[in-house]
Amino acid sequence: MKYYGAVEAGGTKFVCSIIADPDHYYEEIRFPTTTPEETINKTIAFFLEKRRRYKLEAIGISCFGPIDLNRASPTYGYITTTPKPNWHYTDVVGPIKRALNLPVGFDTDVNGAALAEYIWGNPGKAKTLVYYTIGTGLGGGVVIDGEPVHGLVHPEAGHILLRQDFSKDPYQGFCKYHGNCFEGLCCGPAIKDRFGIPGDELGEDHPFWDIFAEYVAQACCTQIYQISPEKIVLGGGVMQQLHVFPKIHKNVLRMLNNYIQHPLILEHIENYITPPVLGDRSGSCGAMALAAKELDRSPK
Ligand code: ADP
Ligand code: ZN
Repeated sequence: MKYYGAVEAGGTKFVCSIIADPDHYYEEIRFPTTTPEETINKTIAFFLEKRRRYKLEAIGISCFGPIDLNRASPTYGYITTTPKPNWHYTDVVGPIKRALNLPVGFDTDVNGAALAEYIWGNPGKAKTLVYYTIGTGLGGGVVIDGEPVHGLVHPEAGHILLRQDFSKDPYQGFCKYHGNCFEGLCCGPAIKDRFGIPGDELGEDHPFWDIFAEYVAQACCTQIYQISPEKIVLGGGVMQQLHVFPKIHKNVLRMLNNYIQHPLILEHIENYITPPVLGDRSGSCGAMALAAKELDRSPK
């Protein structure tokens, strides 16, 4: 059995665990994201202690962003232009690698989760997969042929623009940068800002879920046109409202209007746009998958 250290580095909390595979979790610690120094030191301390018991092969960090993924860059492994106070240009990989002297895999939280779903949640063997998380923030990651897509920086598919019907939803949006982008309209805090209560208290029959399903379907269609994924996974706290999936499916079919015709979409859309198969393990398994990937590419 190979043991990996998984770090889900989120804007509100860090979750560190020791994982061998999705069915074998050994240890876990959760703590709030405070200052970079304190948070990274707690991460290091956890693994230093646990490695006495588990022979760790590598560490994987799936991280809130934006982050620098360019290995040739002097700020590779940093969180870069985040609006989160104190975390602007913070080296995350460097101190962890130095303290533990292990290969350290690093990617966005959503690319990590997309990779985990690609590896372990992919009965149809999709080669191209998009993962959206709709939670405190809203992010989208992409995996093609087993490789998380980076490109120039990395996808920021949570900030795509959508068509808003102001007569049904007269809301200015919650995104600090763009107002009513996808994140600005659909993330958990945007729901709370609209109604004064969080999404989990709205009730399944609240009219907002029709509006929400319209937006999510628009985002899925954009991904379908742009990336042509073989699978779209929708996770995160807000997507625990599983009753919105059938609405999203119906809207996507209506919006595509038979322009894209593929049996995966036309006949089996319920298997095409799905909740994460790994459930809330996709984050930590994603970090573990990044660790395993980094171990693979490290000199033996
Ligand atoms: P994070 O994004 O912080 O890692 P989550 O993915 O759990 O964590 O997302 C938290 C957000 O999701 C909060 O804004 C919360 O109000 C919302 N949320 C959590 N559970 C539900 C639910 N069952 N229905 C609707 N919204 C929910
Ligand atoms: Zn935005």
